[in-house]
Amino acid sequence: MTDTTRDNVPLETITIVGGGTAGWMTAALLSHVFRGYRIRLVESDEIGIIGVGEATIPAIRDYMAMAGIDQVEMIRASQATFKLGIDFVNWRDGNDRYFHGFGRIGQDFMWLHPHQLWLRLKRLGVPIRHLDDYALNCRAGMANKFCFPDPRNPGSPISGIDYAYHFDASLLARYLRVRAEAKGVERIEGRIVDTKLDGESGHVAHVVLADGRTVDGDLFVDCSGMRGLLIGQALGVGYEDWNQWLLNDRALAVPCESVSPLTPYTRVTARDHGWQWRIPLQHRIGNGHVFASAQISDDAAAATLLANLDGKPLADPRAVAFRPGKRHKAWEKNVVAIGLSSGFLEPLESTSIHLIQTGITKLIGLFPHRGFAAPDIAEYNRQHDFEFTDVRDFIVAHYKVTEREDTEYWRYLKHMPIPDSLAERLDLFASSGRFFRRAAAELFREESWVQVLMGQGLPVAYDPMVEMIPDETVAAFLHDTEEVIADVARAMPDHADFIARYCKAPLSP
Ligand code: FAD
Repeated sequence: MTDTTRDNVPLETITIVGGGTAGWMTAALLSHVFRGYRIRLVESDEIGIIGVGEATIPAIRDYMAMAGIDQVEMIRASQATFKLGIDFVNWRDGNDRYFHGFGRIGQDFMWLHPHQLWLRLKRLGVPIRHLDDYALNCRAGMANKFCFPDPRNPGSPISGIDYAYHFDASLLARYLRVRAEAKGVERIEGRIVDTKLDGESGHVAHVVLADGRTVDGDLFVDCSGMRGLLIGQALGVGYEDWNQWLLNDRALAVPCESVSPLTPYTRVTARDHGWQWRIPLQHRIGNGHVFASAQISDDAAAATLLANLDGKPLADPRAVAFRPGKRHKAWEKNVVAIGLSSGFLEPLESTSIHLIQTGITKLIGLFPHRGFAAPDIAEYNRQHDFEFTDVRDFIVAHYKVTEREDTEYWRYLKHMPIPDSLAERLDLFASSGRFFRRAAAELFREESWVQVLMGQGLPVAYDPMVEMIPDETVAAFLHDTEEVIADVARAMPDHADFIARYCKAPLSP
């Protein structure tokens, strides 16, 4: 843990505006890592939080480690379940399924990745199983199994498992609030009606609440959600729209009763004008329909959503509008935008909470302990651009490689022009099954791209180097890999049993 003191520095007060997932994640981490700053958080009970955002990716465990959060305590507090990956239904041709698992796919054969061997056997017409069966996360996920990886045994298949969580967003915000307040964060309830700028520097000087109180700060973290109260409304930083690649701009969310089995994965099912999510928690299932409002009405979208729930709905569907894209700059003057105020990418790969996390860790890494420096701000904004563009390309790839053309929505997506950065990667993969990370900061590993692109049937040729290996050796290697993975998955505990045994939530949290 970093213990950063602030001797002889001008910055004293950090004011966080907004108390959703972004605001409380920021407050919980900054108050854990820093000493000597006054940290305040302003939120409005009247406005409330967006209240969706319940699926994560494995990097969330790094946030928890940095914030000193015990995972079992967090799981109990937020009715969380484990997530091994995402079950994609009907994304290829409307009658298909594949799994994007977080862990490894089998074992490499020297430097060759297993999907290359798999493609060779498929070309030869050798009977082989679905690619998912060679990855432990997929195999265990689809069998509703879960256990922690074994860090004492790094070479074993079980060490290749990787996991994240599904949690109740409101309960998580409450849990983080308790932790942050215990570390001295001061919560101020009230609706901000105005923002005053310092005439000379143009920095935000203070915000004005509806009852006339003012809250000042040296550094403001704008976690006010899509409104972007400070970064957009007060400082006028613009927004880059990405709706030429991402048609969806609206969602309807509805919880429903739990059903058995308790699945350790998110399910995303492609629909005619969007897609539907299913996120299992301990006490309920979160569901939603993300869609393009230009193509389908709220009523029709709600009918599709409600007709495809596994349990009885627990509320009426709630609509959320959004704008795919990102702020031109996430840090401007003395305001850093984190969360929805900094941009939004649809939750297909559960990346928004991760982008909150990287927003906070970037801020810690470039923290203006001794005042605001232009190079720090420029570097923050450069990294912000990279992260959003990187995730955007991965999400756009899901739509571009579809074979679906059954509605105007899917026809457009299949044939749309895509960013050059993505087109080059897809061309390389199509020609040789090769995929390379270009920068250490890229979020998704090769395994993720491979599972999605092959899951959707990108017609790939394999790396010719596979032909240097005798076909019998390739077949035997994949056969052994599959057997080991099947054995390990079989031996793993049931997901619901695992939670009941190690992290059951109390009945009244
Ligand atoms: P909000 O939750 O909107 O919080 C804004 C805060 O600002 C609130 O406390 C509010 O009271 C306060 N505020 C606003 N205006 C004022 C004012 N005038 N005065 C005082 N306070 C004010 N992310 C994932 O990682 N995984 C997912 O599965 C996922 N699913 C999603 C599904 C949908 C449909 C959507 C739209 C988003 C999803 N997200 C997901 C994104 C995720 O919900 C957000 O990233 C996350 O909730 C952060 O929101 P936030 O804290 O930025 O904003």
